[in-house]
Amino acid sequence: MEPASDSNLSFPLRGTERASQLVLFPVQPQQEKTEETKEVIPPLWRGVSGREWNDWRWQLRHRITTLEQMKEIIELTPEETEGIKHSKGRLALAVTPYFASLMDPINPNCPIRRQAIPRIEEVHLSKNEMVDPLGEDKHSPVPGLVHRYPDRVLLLVTDQCAVYCRYCTRRRLVGSNERSITQGNFEEVLKYLKSHRKVRDVLLSGGDPLLLENERLEEMLSRLRVIPHIELLRIGTRAPVTLPQRITGGLVRMLKKYHPLMISIHFTHPKEITDQVKRACSELADGGMPLGSQTVLLKGVNDKPYIMKKLVQELLKIRVRPYYIYQCDLAMGTEHFRTSVATGIQIMEKLRGHTTGYAVPTYVVDAPGGGGKIPLQPDYVVSRGRGKIVLRNYEGKVFEYSEPNIIEFKKARSAGEEKAVPKKVRA
Ligand code: SF4
Repeated sequence: MEPASDSNLSFPLRGTERASQLVLFPVQPQQEKTEETKEVIPPLWRGVSGREWNDWRWQLRHRITTLEQMKEIIELTPEETEGIKHSKGRLALAVTPYFASLMDPINPNCPIRRQAIPRIEEVHLSKNEMVDPLGEDKHSPVPGLVHRYPDRVLLLVTDQCAVYCRYCTRRRLVGSNERSITQGNFEEVLKYLKSHRKVRDVLLSGGDPLLLENERLEEMLSRLRVIPHIELLRIGTRAPVTLPQRITGGLVRMLKKYHPLMISIHFTHPKEITDQVKRACSELADGGMPLGSQTVLLKGVNDKPYIMKKLVQELLKIRVRPYYIYQCDLAMGTEHFRTSVATGIQIMEKLRGHTTGYAVPTYVVDAPGGGGKIPLQPDYVVSRGRGKIVLRNYEGKVFEYSEPNIIEFKKARSAGEEKAVPKKVRA
């Protein structure tokens, strides 16, 4: 995939010309087509009953974790075979049968394969990569808790995920011991939160919080909910995508007791939106949980505007509001997934104005080392002048907007009455 060059992003300033056309990105014919997915149960599990297949614990117990198992499902390339062999001691291989059923057994560029199967490129480390790219460990006053922003904290409640994404930012933590935050740690976390009254928002993440059993998750939510200054609870999860069977009536009934509770779901490609995923999101939305999506921009997976547009439009249809597109972090062994920032900006250029505003997420770079999210977008300001600003719209048409002129009121001395004396104040 060829990233857009930075030079594509510059454009000439045209002063105050109105409604003139700017061609920022040459229109290139694009393949306006993405694969539709149907879950096809691979022969390996053909004898499995529907009841088992739809049981999230069965899915977890039968995750594919070895080269031999993976070979029974897809035709592995030499790069994938070597990648799996070298994944031991790094980020583990684990794929649910459900997610594996979405893989194209022949095409190694299948977006589901690219996300879940290690490739040999993972062993190539770039000098810019970091073990802890977001500096979470240095912002962790208590094990399992990250406090980087003034009014909100991140709680790493488990290191388990249904599928380990090959580009994971927290690859230093996830999938290593398959263990959750300990009870002792959680007591410390609660103590910290009770004494930090500015914290009003707690995001439960990990790993994937929805891999905890309902009882354990409810214990955490209920104990957080009674802290008076905590207004909002959030869960960051990929389970509705990689393990949609996890979204059960029992889970939703439990979650809805702890409103306001928002759920951010990690989606990557339109191929992930299957009937099972639609059902899972519908149940969560019916339970009153606002749903948002988080998407990592990945080379060769979703770095084309037509793919991202299809994704955000499909998400709105299942009541998931596109929330963030993340520039891929500088995690170890992930350089082959990274695009240029210009590619991300070009994607935003093709979304804003070209589709429903609700479908347009914010594109961010999570600042390396822990500076937080920095939003990026195409530059819509053509020029700034005295009292006016020249802007261009999504079509490249240019418009002039006059800044406010402030009228000052002075008292007319002789008449003793107020008189308006216009005075232009330049912006
Ligand atoms: S679900 Fe999230 S935490 Fe788990 S491996 Fe994927 S990116 Fe990492």
